[in-house]
Amino acid sequence: MSVEPLIFEKGAPGRRAATLPALDVPAEPLESLVPPHLLRQEPAPLPEVSEIEIVRHYTHLSQRNFGVDTGFYPLGSCTMKYNPKLNEDMAALPGFALLHPLQPESTVQGAIQLQYELEQYLAEIAGMARVTLQPSAGAHGELTGLMLIKAYHEHRGEGHRNLVLIPDNAHGTNPASATLAGYRAVEIKTDPATGGLDMERLRSLLDSQGRQVAAIMLTNPNTLGIFDRNAVEIARLVHEAGGQLYYDGANANAVLGITRPGDMGFDVVHFNLHKTCSTPHGGGGPGAGPIGVKEHLVPFLPGPLPARDEQGNYYWADPGPLSIGKVRANTGNFGVLVRAYAYIRTYGPDGLLRVAQSAILNANYLRHELASDYEIAFPQVRLCQHEFVATAQRQKQESGVTANDIAKRLLDFGMYAPTVYFPLIVHEAMMIEPTETETRETLDYFIKVMRQIAHEARADPEVVKTAPHTTPVGRLDQALAARRPNLRWKPGQEATHGLGQP
Ligand SMILES: *Cc1c(COP(=O)(O)O)cnc(C)c1O
Repeated sequence: MSVEPLIFEKGAPGRRAATLPALDVPAEPLESLVPPHLLRQEPAPLPEVSEIEIVRHYTHLSQRNFGVDTGFYPLGSCTMKYNPKLNEDMAALPGFALLHPLQPESTVQGAIQLQYELEQYLAEIAGMARVTLQPSAGAHGELTGLMLIKAYHEHRGEGHRNLVLIPDNAHGTNPASATLAGYRAVEIKTDPATGGLDMERLRSLLDSQGRQVAAIMLTNPNTLGIFDRNAVEIARLVHEAGGQLYYDGANANAVLGITRPGDMGFDVVHFNLHKTCSTPHGGGGPGAGPIGVKEHLVPFLPGPLPARDEQGNYYWADPGPLSIGKVRANTGNFGVLVRAYAYIRTYGPDGLLRVAQSAILNANYLRHELASDYEIAFPQVRLCQHEFVATAQRQKQESGVTANDIAKRLLDFGMYAPTVYFPLIVHEAMMIEPTETETRETLDYFIKVMRQIAHEARADPEVVKTAPHTTPVGRLDQALAARRPNLRWKPGQEATHGLGQP
């Protein structure tokens, strides 16, 4: 005999979570408050539940959610590191959280000062002249940076430049941003020997089409977790051809305090503050993607920029006539900026350096330990940076177990999966980024589990191919779940756990 658990349908007609005392003032007829044609003819068919039912419902839903607060989250390129709760407390301080963006400057001196100082810290970290805090995501920063580059070229009478060079291992946002900014994206292959940019290809492109090149967008370390040692040479070649250098700084976790995009010769860089500097992310936000620029691009920055007068008062300075204008309402995603400020101030320069060093150490430890059971992309490169790409090529060949299967099986062990099938240039890619905030014990547990899964793939591949076995839902139709999510319960409808509906 089996007993169905009380999972989804709850409540009974007439049940209430709260009861109010009878009305002791004259009732206003509804028709005088809402035009009669907008009034419901019948009560809404809502679930009628007691307080304990609703508390349990939402508590159970929250327990089904996986997050970095519940487990290891090695999602490569996304830097799902632990976000110190102190920074949450800072962002929630009433003096920050309750501000209105249009309050008079004299009443928000602290908030402007915070943004003024954060801009200076970020400029120092990146080796740039100035920073705008406006963009709300990495991709938004990319678009803003390319708009600046475009304005710069046009100002110099070089508006004909229409190509943006992008390596084939770049994040998908790079070509998307270039296209949105009105450019044509030109792909450059990865050099199979170094895992860096194919320099021959770059040279020949610059030789044949250099006069058309507006910029190159580079992620360094790239999404293979490999630091491109040719960065300075790339900068020299592209500058010589009259192009600008855009640094995708989403992987800044690997370089904090070690090197700076500005020193490598880049003209523009975006930060992903939600990745590198402590804001819980995933599921669509919130984020902040400030961009830093070298001196020659400062006149084109969006405004206003935070400033300080001789008396020490802070104010918002209007941008000059060459500014590309605002890219966001008000001055940025303020709560994320407060967290980043608190994060940077808590660690200080030495702490930030140790963040990057530990992130690199942890990634190299995993890369070394997993090499016994998984093929590693670009094994000839001695060290990875903050992440690396392992593959399921051996497992796929031997027993048909794919990177996706391994990702699903990891969920059974209470861990999130690596980024799979990215970068696109590695077959069966599993991109692993442990971050600096995990303990040795967690890393060792992950290694043990990955070895166990490799063992299962040989001994009992079905277990892996049918995973996950312990999560609230199994394998979804991911395309349908993303395109047609069914997020709303309607009376009489079967429980679908929010899965896509055909
Ligand atoms: C995450 C990421 C981006 C995009 O950042 P969003 O904030 O998601 O728009 C761009 N490039 C790389 C390498 C990334 O990892």
